[in-house]
Amino acid sequence: MTAVTMTLAQARAWDDTDPLRSFRDRFALPAGVIYLDGNSLGPPPRSAGPSLDRVIRVEWGQGLVRSWNDANWIGAPARVGGKIASLIGAAADEVVAADSTSVNIFKLLAAAMAGRPAPRVILTAKGEFPTDLYLAHGVAATLPGVVVRAVEDDEIEASLTADVAVLLLSHVHYKTAARRDMAAITQRARAVGAVVLWDLSHSAGAVEVDLTASGVDMAVGCGYKFLNGGPGAPAFLFVARRLQPTLRSPLTGWMGHVDPFAFRDDYEAASGIARFLCGTPPMLSLLALEAAIDLWLEVDRQAVAQKAERLWSLMAAQMEARCGGQDFKLISPRETALRGSHIAYSHANGFQIMQALIARGVIGDFRDPDILRFGITPLYLGYEDVWRAVEALREIMLSGDWRRTPPRVAGAVT
Ligand SMILES: *Cc1c(COP(=O)(O)O)cnc(C)c1O
Repeated sequence: MTAVTMTLAQARAWDDTDPLRSFRDRFALPAGVIYLDGNSLGPPPRSAGPSLDRVIRVEWGQGLVRSWNDANWIGAPARVGGKIASLIGAAADEVVAADSTSVNIFKLLAAAMAGRPAPRVILTAKGEFPTDLYLAHGVAATLPGVVVRAVEDDEIEASLTADVAVLLLSHVHYKTAARRDMAAITQRARAVGAVVLWDLSHSAGAVEVDLTASGVDMAVGCGYKFLNGGPGAPAFLFVARRLQPTLRSPLTGWMGHVDPFAFRDDYEAASGIARFLCGTPPMLSLLALEAAIDLWLEVDRQAVAQKAERLWSLMAAQMEARCGGQDFKLISPRETALRGSHIAYSHANGFQIMQALIARGVIGDFRDPDILRFGITPLYLGYEDVWRAVEALREIMLSGDWRRTPPRVAGAVT
């Protein structure tokens, strides 16, 4: 890929002809902020406020308990799941919106273990997102004969032995943005009788995902990152239709029952994807997520992919041209097919630099030990934004401004 730098005028010209330009106004972003952290928390779609207002006043306020039927609240996990399915190459009846990514990982890991002879290995990669690793160990602690094996990336293939029940992997890595070959790994796992649980937290809404074409068995993902569903939005889970009858959720809550409102004493799992539900859905969060997904459904996703590619390349090129010699080391793969939609640099003073950048209204984030992360989100970012973000970084470096930011407070959210 060739690095293409731009002048401010050129960046503006690209914005003027951007087919996605109108979507920027569909988000409520504060003035004076360049938001490069949609990979951590997407901004609110303007439709979310009026939608929640109506839900609170009309559906909750007027409809009261009747809204479970009259407003079809009860159908929302499947309905929103079905919409998310269309973004990730799944059938509508293979996805539900429910719980958190963490809880969904637990449910699907445990479900995949059932009925397999010991030893049952959960294979995963070192350096995966912490909750994924913690939950692998949590599942192992609750099920006899389950062990966790975390290996280096280049050892995954050799570690796929017959005792592996589940391979738990992120599709796009949360720090480096490195993207794995979903179809190839899924196939290799299947060859030894294992299933892969793909974590799509940094993929959904970021890169094209086709679970069906890739032969994927199980996946989970996050609602509040690139999908813009709101802080703590419900997550989603996917189970391929062919596997649904054989898999049981370990969290046998009543919403996963075949007939919750029969109030029977005995648990009988629902027949389809609904068996992976647990308790009453959080309707306000779920309907905010739905507003965000509805916006996604309007978007030409090829245009998103093309713009993401251009924004990313512009960022990389401007960083080289304007912040070269400042010790920023690109740790994301350059090739489009090998990465997600954020760009990460390591720098020894990364924490202070990011704080100085945020103080100037350019919001990215910092990840231990030394990583600056910038989310490239084509729905509301423009070329001028990326251009200005790099200029702000340059000023911080040349002026030494970052040295004046206070050191890190332990335990704070980064
Ligand atoms: C963000 C993220 C999560 C988040 O899990 P929560 O249960 O929503 O806190 C999980 N896995 C990965 C890979 C993530 O990036």
